[in-house]
Amino acid sequence: DAAQDERVEKHVMRIRGKVREMTAMLNEFLSLERIEQGLVVCQPVEIDVVHLCIELIEELRALTKSGQTINFDHLGDERVVTLDRQMLSNVITNLVTNAVKYSPEGKRITLHTTIVNGHLRIITSDEGIGIPAEDQHHLFELFFRGSNATTIQGTGLGLNLVKRYLDIMNGTIDFTSRPGHTVFNVELPQNLST
Ligand code: ATP
Ligand code: MG
Repeated sequence: DAAQDERVEKHVMRIRGKVREMTAMLNEFLSLERIEQGLVVCQPVEIDVVHLCIELIEELRALTKSGQTINFDHLGDERVVTLDRQMLSNVITNLVTNAVKYSPEGKRITLHTTIVNGHLRIITSDEGIGIPAEDQHHLFELFFRGSNATTIQGTGLGLNLVKRYLDIMNGTIDFTSRPGHTVFNVELPQNLST
């Protein structure tokens, strides 16, 4: 009957979600292993940042909780960079995924990009739980998880990977956070030599 179909559907959705989480975790482990083995080479290619962000956000919308929105805007006419597509995608995906994960239902998440003076700047912001002050200086450590995040699924791999990719591409990352407001700020050279 209809009620049973609905229950089955709910279970299938939960299983799908879990499989997605496990796949993401496995991929993070494999990426880390590949970096450590020196197998990851930076392959800069021309990328339209606007196209890339729109593409990524379309996928990431599948992770949002009810009422959450992800908004993207790019400032300026210049939008082509020469960076490693895989690494750049990973950085953006990790930051937006965190914004979604560590925000409750109904909150706004924004992704903002711009190119200024030969640098690509990527800013994500959310209205989520924030990062406790005493946790902030550990944030990029491997397996570190915030003291207010323990009930939320995660491994503490994402930001460590982000940091490593940024190191490889000569990029930097910083953030400011308080409860209800977290902003991550990434800066990268616009063009790495091919
Ligand atoms: P995963 O390996 O799946 O990414 P994770 O999300 O726990 O797991 P990181 O992405 O490395 O790991 O983040 C480390 C910790 O930083 C998180 O556990 C969380 O406590 C905190 N954090 C990261 N981004 C945010 C954010 N936007 N708002 C609040 N806390 C955050
Ligand atoms: Mg994460």
